[in-house]
Amino acid sequence: MQSYVWNLVASSIRPTGLRRCNTGFLSALQQRRYSTTHDADIVVIGSGPGGYVASIKAAQMGMKTVCIEKNPTLGGTCLNVGCIPSKALLNNSHYYHMAHSGDLAARGVLVDNIRVDLDKLMASKSNAVKALTGGIAQLFKKNKVTLISGHGKITGVNQVTALKSDGSSEVVNTKHILIATGSEVTPFPGIDIDEETIVSSTGALSLKEIPKKLVVIGAGVIGLELGSVWKRLGAEVTAVEFLNTIGGVGIDGEVSKAFQKILAKQGMNFKLGTKVTAAKKEGGIIKVSVEEVKNPDKKEEMECDVLLVCVGRRPYTENLGLEGLGIERDQRGRIPVNAVFQTVVPNIYAIGDCIHGPMLAHKAEDEGIICVEGINGGPVHIDYNCVPSVIYTHPEVGWVGKTEEDLKSEGVEFKIGKFPFLANSRAKTNNDHDGFVKVLSDKNTDRILGTHIIGPTAGELINEAVLAQEYGASAEDVARVCHAHPTCAEALREANMAAYIGKPINF
Ligand SMILES: Cc1cc2nc3c(=O)[nH]c(=O)nc-3n(C[C@H](O)[C@H](O)[C@H](O)COP(=O)(O)OP(=O)(O)OC[C@H]3O[C@@H](n4cnc5c(N)ncnc54)[C@H](O)[C@@H]3O)c2cc1C
Repeated sequence: MQSYVWNLVASSIRPTGLRRCNTGFLSALQQRRYSTTHDADIVVIGSGPGGYVASIKAAQMGMKTVCIEKNPTLGGTCLNVGCIPSKALLNNSHYYHMAHSGDLAARGVLVDNIRVDLDKLMASKSNAVKALTGGIAQLFKKNKVTLISGHGKITGVNQVTALKSDGSSEVVNTKHILIATGSEVTPFPGIDIDEETIVSSTGALSLKEIPKKLVVIGAGVIGLELGSVWKRLGAEVTAVEFLNTIGGVGIDGEVSKAFQKILAKQGMNFKLGTKVTAAKKEGGIIKVSVEEVKNPDKKEEMECDVLLVCVGRRPYTENLGLEGLGIERDQRGRIPVNAVFQTVVPNIYAIGDCIHGPMLAHKAEDEGIICVEGINGGPVHIDYNCVPSVIYTHPEVGWVGKTEEDLKSEGVEFKIGKFPFLANSRAKTNNDHDGFVKVLSDKNTDRILGTHIIGPTAGELINEAVLAQEYGASAEDVARVCHAHPTCAEALREANMAAYIGKPINF
């Protein structure tokens, strides 16, 4: 009865142009044998940070919720081959680096015979992934989200079919559909990734040996994080980058320069303004052909035993059934949505990496929550200018809002407040003081427009800056808030002080 009503609703909202396409879909499906049929208020396709958070939120708001996931484990890119495993390797390789580089010895902590047990390092990473992906399954149970394993395909305006690995399928009739299918590694034309020696980020998280020489194509966030991991474990690492800067899109120019200096001091090599043109395997060695972007006659052949291709990610919308619904993708393969995340079919929504905006887990999560709230009649608002970015190297880099370059190009009058970690008591005490905090505020109103941090715990500190910016705080507001001493957060306070009054206390 319920699904009959929804089908009526669907036919009333379905644009006439779609009716014909859907008939084709449905008749093909009607010929199949279904193992099960469900009814739902919402079907979420994909269980990455966007999809799983949206599913839980929907269930908490009283919606009968089904989440369909094609992978054996939940959590998507982020938990399985992204944020979580990379951070596990970054954290533990940092400990090794501290011991191996003599840093611990300089602090009076003497450790002999320091070695890496790569299997254990990988096991520790896998345990973190297992615990967290398993945690989502528990949360689904607790919140009564029905999980269906299989490839979700939209087979009607109000219907999703989960195609299972054993050839059977489950059909769910639903009021709403939320696409949260995420993204996949962007391939490099002409370079075949085997995930053994020519690897994407996924293979780089599970190398069986520490490379002697690692070439990374792309000095963006993921390339620098994974390059750092293997550098710390002993590889000679060279990052080749088309642009003249490192750190990817959105990083402040001054921070990027300082970041490059610090990483170079740690032993990472950079070839900037350089284009990779080809790579081939020859007798166990990978030969990478590069040329200068500005002077293509200047060519070089680099050799390495592992090549990491890190040139970005692209939306994943394979075999989703979008064509049959008239949902077209843009030039970059993204699903166009309006301000409330609706596609051109009003009851079909999309969020996360498969739509516009930065490809970040927390952005996907936030969109998942507000999209579901919107479906239930709540307001839908996200300020993409307040979505932070973090690079989890050592030191970390974190930023939110406008860069100095943005403000100059927009013709905004602004003030800069800077404070070095060298003058911060906690960073100095910990002998971990590379970097600075840079606050950009409106010259006339003092409103904070952007915060850029390179230094210890930047990934944590940036959240205070996000909160301030979300609430429209002025630099003076943050500077007048009492901050615990001794903490690295005091550097953020002092940078705000420098922005509003021109003078910090401790520098
Ligand atoms: C190495 C690496 C490190 C990263 N580190 C960070 C970080 O530190 N911080 C950060 O914010 N971001 C990081 N990211 C990016 C982050 O992982 C993504 O932005 C985030 O996972 C996007 O979430 P999502 O829910 O949109 O998609 P995804 O996480 O990609 O999830 C999509 C899910 O949908 C499933 N799916 C796809 N199609 C179907 C279908 N038809 N039927 C059923 N299931 C389907 C997929 O199997 C997948 O589980 C990192 C990425 C990588 C690769």
